[in-house]
Amino acid sequence: MMRPPLRVRSTVINNIRLYTGLPPAERYNIVIVPFTPETSLSHCPRCGKAVKTEARFCAMCGLSLAPGHNNTHAPGTIPHPNASPTPEDHAPVTEAANLFYRTESAWGGKRLLGTENIGVVLINTGYPLRNVIFRVQGFDDKGNELFSVNHEVKHLEQDRPATVEVASYDIPSAPADIRVSLMSAEFASID
Ligand SMILES: [Zn+2]
Repeated sequence: MMRPPLRVRSTVINNIRLYTGLPPAERYNIVIVPFTPETSLSHCPRCGKAVKTEARFCAMCGLSLAPGHNNTHAPGTIPHPNASPTPEDHAPVTEAANLFYRTESAWGGKRLLGTENIGVVLINTGYPLRNVIFRVQGFDDKGNELFSVNHEVKHLEQDRPATVEVASYDIPSAPADIRVSLMSAEFASID
C-alpha cells in the first residue's frame, strides 16, 4: 500500500540539523541521508584553533591551509606561501614540502669510497620544524635497497642546514642512489 509522503521540518542549530515531526519509526522505513553542513570545521595543525575547511590561512597563527584541508595535513607537508628559494644541487625530500637534501662525505666534500660515513645535509625553506624524523635509504644500481635508517633532527629552522650522518657500519656497499623521505615532524613554537 502507498504510504503518504512524510512531511518533516528541520532546522540547523550550531551546525546540527534537528528534525521535528518524524513519525514513530516502526511504521516507516526511515532512510537517513547524511547531512553535509554548509560550513565544516577542522583544526589548525600548528596552533589547534578551529578553522573552517575552506579557510586559506589560520586566523590565529597565519599557517597556510590548502582549500579543503583537514587534520591530515601534517607538519612538514604544508607548503609555505613565501618559501625561500630552492637551494641548488639539492633534491626534494619525499612526502614533504619545502624540505631538500644533498649528500656529502661525512668529513665534508665529495664522497670518495662510497662506504664511508655519509653526511645528509637537510635544508628547510618553509615553516620551522622540530623533532623531524627522516628516513635515509640507499639503493644499488638495480634499485635494491641496501640500507634504511631513520634519523631525527631536533630543530630545523628556515634556511639553517642540518646534517645527519649515516654510519659506515650501516652501509654494506656503495649506494648508487640515496633517497630521503619525511616520516614525521612537529611545528616549532610560534614566535
Ligand atoms: Zn594556527
